[in-house]
Amino acid sequence: MPISCSICDGKAILKRPKTGDALCKECFYYAFEEEIHKTIIDAKLFTSGETVAIGASGGKDSTVLAYTMKELNQRYNYGLDLVLLSVDEGITGYRDDSLETVKRNQIQYDLPLKIVSYEDLYGWSMDSIVKQIGLKNNCTFCGVFRRQALDRGAMMMKVDKIVTGHNADDIAETVIMNVLRGDIGRLRRCTAITTGTDGALPRCKPFKYTYEKEIVMYAYFKKLDYFSTECIYSPNAYRGFARAYIKDVEKIRPSAIIDIIHSGESLSVKKDVRLPVQGTCERCGYMSSNPVCKACVLLEGLNRGLPRLGIGKTHKERRKADEAEKAKKAAENLNSEDQKSCDNSSDQSNNRTCVSSCQCSTDISKLTLNSKPDVSKLDF
Ligand code: SF4
Ligand code: ZN
Repeated sequence: MPISCSICDGKAILKRPKTGDALCKECFYYAFEEEIHKTIIDAKLFTSGETVAIGASGGKDSTVLAYTMKELNQRYNYGLDLVLLSVDEGITGYRDDSLETVKRNQIQYDLPLKIVSYEDLYGWSMDSIVKQIGLKNNCTFCGVFRRQALDRGAMMMKVDKIVTGHNADDIAETVIMNVLRGDIGRLRRCTAITTGTDGALPRCKPFKYTYEKEIVMYAYFKKLDYFSTECIYSPNAYRGFARAYIKDVEKIRPSAIIDIIHSGESLSVKKDVRLPVQGTCERCGYMSSNPVCKACVLLEGLNRGLPRLGIGKTHKERRKADEAEKAKKAAENLNSEDQKSCDNSSDQSNNRTCVSSCQCSTDISKLTLNSKPDVSKLDF
């Protein structure tokens, strides 16, 4: 006997992963979109007249985000100017293909698109970084550079806000990872729906409560054009374990994803716990809890042939580099007292690369590890 849609009594064709409700396609679309609208309204994410950049990778999350943002903006008159913003990490055989999807989305959704590349911003593509450092820690470089690249692209486009496709599963994974690492500072911030409000460009996550499985279903039934291959450099084992754990508990208890997010939101930090103090990088002005931001340290490591600089918190190479930097500054001070015109000295050339390529501010971007829709799980 056919199962009826729990909203309209029509023929149900799927079971919602989040609630277990049997729904027809149209009622699923409606429930999915209305929940995102409610999230946007409850959190007051936007103000009419704002220009909002949608971080677009061509993957399922950002493609569904672009589609639903455009729909809801029209349906509910948000009054937003939407644009697509992509980062080209320079990964041959992966990002070049996914950017082709974004270019098609640009035409399909009739939205302006800007692409910023690591090569242009930092002088290094991920292909060249991996050639130098191998496949260990490559995601650290990529994540830190992408965070800044997205901000810099957004500033070039003069947008007011960035939205990213982080979904509920991603946020639950991050909560678990931060618990396992004991990273209280990040644990406190990682469930915020908007970050970067303290001076830099705000970033919002309209999919904060949206399940990944439902995003896949939505993209599949709507036949959206998205890219579903994994990055060729993706050894991100730590997140992979957190992801596998979340998927396992979700099988037993689907509400576990939202429950983990709520647990993260409700955590309070004891008064005597020392949290990192946010300041700005003395080289590039980007937000940083250290005198020099992580991107500048990583870039310096690449440019000086010390790729392990900045990997780990107190790595001895960083200490060595700090000492070398201090010695260099002391020598420069001595020289400048004797000889006042050293502006173009070769000693400053390392810094020049960094300073000219790092002029931004703000927060985190997304590791879009796409997965193919498992269509067998979509129907009853
Ligand atoms: Fe960058 Fe993601 Fe690929 Fe790692 S898996 S190299 S973070 S695109
Ligand atoms: Zn910096």
